[in-house]
Amino acid sequence: MLLRQLFDEATWTYTYLLADEQSKEAVIIDAVVEQVERDVKLIEELGLTLKYAIDTHVHADHITGSGLLRERTGCQTGVAASEHVECVDMHLREGDELRFGAHTLRVLETPGHTSGCLSFVTDGMVFTGDALFIRGCGRTDFQAGNADTLYASITEKLYALPDDTLVYPGHDYKGMMVSTIAEEKAHNPRVKLGRQGFVDLMNNLNLPMPKRIHEAVPANLKCGLNKES
Ligand code: FE
Repeated sequence: MLLRQLFDEATWTYTYLLADEQSKEAVIIDAVVEQVERDVKLIEELGLTLKYAIDTHVHADHITGSGLLRERTGCQTGVAASEHVECVDMHLREGDELRFGAHTLRVLETPGHTSGCLSFVTDGMVFTGDALFIRGCGRTDFQAGNADTLYASITEKLYALPDDTLVYPGHDYKGMMVSTIAEEKAHNPRVKLGRQGFVDLMNNLNLPMPKRIHEAVPANLKCGLNKES
C-alpha cells in the first residue's frame, strides 16, 4: 500500500493519497481545492489512476477538491448519504466498501463533529477526519454537531478498532501526523474526561467561527465547484 500524507498550510488540513502498488488504483481523502494541481501532479508522477475522491464530511474550513479532481481525472466522488450532496457519485453509508486494487476502504459512520462525518478504515489504518484528532477532536458547535454523539462515535466505533490501528486525522494544529487507537485511549485529554465531562467541555469551548464557513459549506454542497447552473 502506498500512502502519502499531504498538508494544506492555510487550513491545517491533511489530505491522504492511498494506492495499490500493483494495479496503481488510488483513492484520495479530503482533497483541498487550492491543492488540486499539486495532487494531480503527484498522481501523474506516481503513475496512479485516481479511482475515488472522497470526503470525511462537508467541511466548513476549506473547499473540497473532489469536484475538480473528478473533472481532471474522471474519478468518482463520495460523501455521506446523510449530507444530501446531490453532485457526488457515491452517497456513502456504514459498511460500504470502496475497492482499489487489492485493497478495500470500509466506511464507518462517526457523526458528532457534523451529523454526516465518516471515517475510513483500511489495512490497519483509520482516517478519522474531524471525529478524532491526535489528543483532540473536532468541534461540535455547528453543522448539526453534537458532543454526546461524537463521544459515542469515538468510544464505541473508533476505540473498538484494534489498538494498533494507525490514526490519521483530518487536521493537526501542533505538528503531529499520526497516532494509534491505543495512544488516544491512553492520552486523549478530552475523551478521558468521560461522557459528561466531554460533553460539558465541548459545549463550552466558545471558539470563533471558521473564517470561511459561509463560503465553504455552500461550495462543498456543490462539490467545490462554483458553477452558476
Ligand atoms: Fe470539519
